[in-house]
Amino acid sequence: MRIPHRLVVLPLLMALAAVPACSGGVHGGPGAAGLRDPYFPGLGNGGYDVTHYALDLAYDPATHRLTGTADLTATARQSLSAFHLDLQGLTVDEVTVDGKRAVGSRAGHELTVRPHDELPDGSTFRTTVRYSGEPETITDPDGSEEGWLRTADGALGLGEPTGSMAWFPGNNHPSDKATYDITVTVPKGQQAVSNGELTSERTSADGRRTTYSWHVAQPMGSYLATVAVGRFDIRRSKTPSGLPVWTAVDPQEAQASKEVLGRLPEVITWETKRFGAYPFSSTGAIVDRDGDAGYALETQNRPVFPGAPDLGTLVHELAHQWYGDSVTPKSWRDMWLNEGFATYAEWLWEEDHHGEPAREAFDAVYARPKGAAVWSFPPADPPGAAQISDTPVYQRGAMVLQKVRETIGDADFFSLLKSWPADHKYGNADTGDFTAYVEKKNPGKAKALAGVWDVWLYGDGKPRQS
Ligand SMILES: [Zn+2]
Repeated sequence: MRIPHRLVVLPLLMALAAVPACSGGVHGGPGAAGLRDPYFPGLGNGGYDVTHYALDLAYDPATHRLTGTADLTATARQSLSAFHLDLQGLTVDEVTVDGKRAVGSRAGHELTVRPHDELPDGSTFRTTVRYSGEPETITDPDGSEEGWLRTADGALGLGEPTGSMAWFPGNNHPSDKATYDITVTVPKGQQAVSNGELTSERTSADGRRTTYSWHVAQPMGSYLATVAVGRFDIRRSKTPSGLPVWTAVDPQEAQASKEVLGRLPEVITWETKRFGAYPFSSTGAIVDRDGDAGYALETQNRPVFPGAPDLGTLVHELAHQWYGDSVTPKSWRDMWLNEGFATYAEWLWEEDHHGEPAREAFDAVYARPKGAAVWSFPPADPPGAAQISDTPVYQRGAMVLQKVRETIGDADFFSLLKSWPADHKYGNADTGDFTAYVEKKNPGKAKALAGVWDVWLYGDGKPRQS
């Protein structure tokens, strides 16, 4: 999907800005229509921060129809006469702000909301959007599919990088994290699985519908929200340390998933030892048969797998709970901070469990010829939106971490693996934050680290020496 160009929206913004929202006093203006992400400039919105999303959804796989009410609690970061939400497709039936009817207008994926009363800088306000329709599947610049995906027995909502706006309105950018309540009503016989913890499961009085309520108590980026509707075997257990585990497995994948998912508590225990305290209040996995997506995603609390996962992928997606989900990129340029760490977690798993040092995994990648995809661009600077999930972001991102390890030594490196997510817990960080952090923690190594950044993080082509 190509994001509609911001210029399409600007005339509308200027028109809104030209009309004062009230007479007398200081006038607020409209919030920006995008956050100027280097790759997705129109994503997200300026002028406010969302602190909580309460989503009340109903979906019927037979008709593909979604009806939703999104109740957003947000804080104004400027005086606002109008503000934007991101919403792709669907029909907006009503918008209210603080209980009063507001004017909503659509242009591309921008829903412009003009509240009845101007919102003062610093004020907390509630926006309620009622909407309905058949949610869309979004095709990314790299050709992969996200947003709302129909599955054989239901549907799956996936949001990296842009897709959450296909099923709920919001500030759709990783830099604005919020807590969530996600309630989903489905026809009897179907299940609905989401992030966080299942707080209730109710059947309607006529017995025809079941409502599942999931609560996400820790901040989450919108791209990490998920809903899976279909027939699932939902099981609750606990890790040895008492962390609740919810797994939801498509019955057709149950046998093939059993062994690997049985090791989930062991993976979480090992990752906690390596990466520090687990950042969220539950874990788990969703195994669905989403033939359209075909990729796993580190959705918060419980990653989604497109079929029975292998152990390496489980290690990778669960490592993201620390690297990506708890400490989240400031923009989509910083993807390597997610994928480099999660790939390195796979290398480290092999090192700790099979005696294969991470350096061997590094050497195997380094052995690839000059023209190989892994050398096509530096991990910290993908050339465009279509490349943010390419090989250099993963493999060469992990190589950066191996070079950091060899520069600062094992003791300080393993301490870094824990302190980086702990010191940025539930927050956002970019590449500059990371390099400054490593240098500050290792003041005697600043010069050698600068060399690592120049060659491995920002340098073009295959480095001359490994
Ligand atoms: Zn990943």
